Amino acid sequence: MPAEVDVIIIGAGVVGLAIAAELSRADKTVFVFEKNRTFGLETSSHNSEVIHAGMYYPENSLKAKLCINGNSLLYELCDKFNINHKQLGKLIVAADDAETKEVERLYYQGLKNGVSGLQMLAREEIQRLEPNVKAVAALLSPSTGVVDSYNLLRCYYGRAKENAVEFVFNTAVIGIVRSGGHYKVSIKDSEGISSVTANVVINAAGLFSDKVAQLAGIDLEKAGYKLHYCKGEYFSLNPKVGCSVYRLVYPVPEQAGVGVHVTLSIDGSMRLGPDTKYVDMIDYAVDESAGEEFYQAVRRYLPSVELDDLVPDFAGVRPKLQGPGEGFRDYVIRDETEKGLPGLINLIGIESPGLTASPAIAKYVAEIIAEILN
Ligand SMILES: Cc1cc2nc3c(=O)[nH]c(=O)nc-3n(C[C@H](O)[C@H](O)[C@H](O)COP(=O)(O)OP(=O)(O)OC[C@H]3O[C@@H](n4cnc5c(N)ncnc54)[C@H](O)[C@@H]3O)c2cc1C
Repeated sequence: MPAEVDVIIIGAGVVGLAIAAELSRADKTVFVFEKNRTFGLETSSHNSEVIHAGMYYPENSLKAKLCINGNSLLYELCDKFNINHKQLGKLIVAADDAETKEVERLYYQGLKNGVSGLQMLAREEIQRLEPNVKAVAALLSPSTGVVDSYNLLRCYYGRAKENAVEFVFNTAVIGIVRSGGHYKVSIKDSEGISSVTANVVINAAGLFSDKVAQLAGIDLEKAGYKLHYCKGEYFSLNPKVGCSVYRLVYPVPEQAGVGVHVTLSIDGSMRLGPDTKYVDMIDYAVDESAGEEFYQAVRRYLPSVELDDLVPDFAGVRPKLQGPGEGFRDYVIRDETEKGLPGLINLIGIESPGLTASPAIAKYVAEIIAEILN
């Protein structure tokens, strides 16, 4: 390993990989340090794999902008590199008049954000499109889809490797010190502790991105960077007549998530989830007893479903800046010059729609770096 490189990326999840693929096109030495044995073993492989459209987030927020740009960039990427995906479309359904108001709010929010093709549907149209779904009104989002997340990760990884990005697995970043206009990054692997110097350090450490920012001396409470873990569990749904859907079907969103929804994976199997539970520890076990809650949530709009159709599947953990009961928090994606740390780029709170937004986040970070280095 060289003693000096241009750019260090911490974390090989979808965000670190997308940035690596984007930066690899420029003339720079880029190293990615990943504490696990390979890429994408954490949040990037524990999610709904939905290509979101962008109606949930406030206008002009980074989440809205990067989701909408990411949506079209991701479809282009999927077409260009044969990444398995399907543009299935999605319905957000209302069970009563109060929920219809919320669905309409999302429709107008989506229009303001610039989401394409949105349409409000009445009961009869919903019946025609999705005979098994019960709803009084719905928002149709044709640009929503699903992507094979492993294919996507593999594609970013392959493109970065082809362009000489070096991946160093089983290697955790344990220290970041600014000295002499550079960063000395300490790493720990099976052989011990060593260090590498870089001009630019990109913190794409997902669930640990707050701890990595802290390594560089940032006060998490003061900066508002402390992450809260919010677990989401999934149940798979046994296929049976009367329960099938052609599109993704979501209820109106709840406070911390988008509600227990029905997604279709690339192979056509149906999955319910995720729920939202703030937790202190990261663990991926599924609590079987949550099945009853999922059943009650889903039968409101998919009435033929029965409790026995639900089988515990997997779980993911969201890295949230917003604690329980708190309002919207946007992504933190910024160069920390103001904190006396120029060239340290923190990406913190990259929860959903991070998979969708990944190609747009990569371009956004590349622009920040171009500005710093010019
Ligand atoms: C339940 C759930 C459902 C979701 N559904 C969707 C969806 O349908 N559509 C969508 O667009 N998004 C979705 N998301 C969001 C999406 O999965 C994330 O935004 C995205 O995967 C975040 O990627 P990341 O690279 O930032 O994080 P990660 O995938 O967690 O990667 C971070 C990497 O950093 C490494 N790391 C951490 N600390 C260190 C260190 N000190 N040294 C070296 N390496 C380190 C970790 O090992 C890890 O590999 C969902 C998320 C959850 C939890």
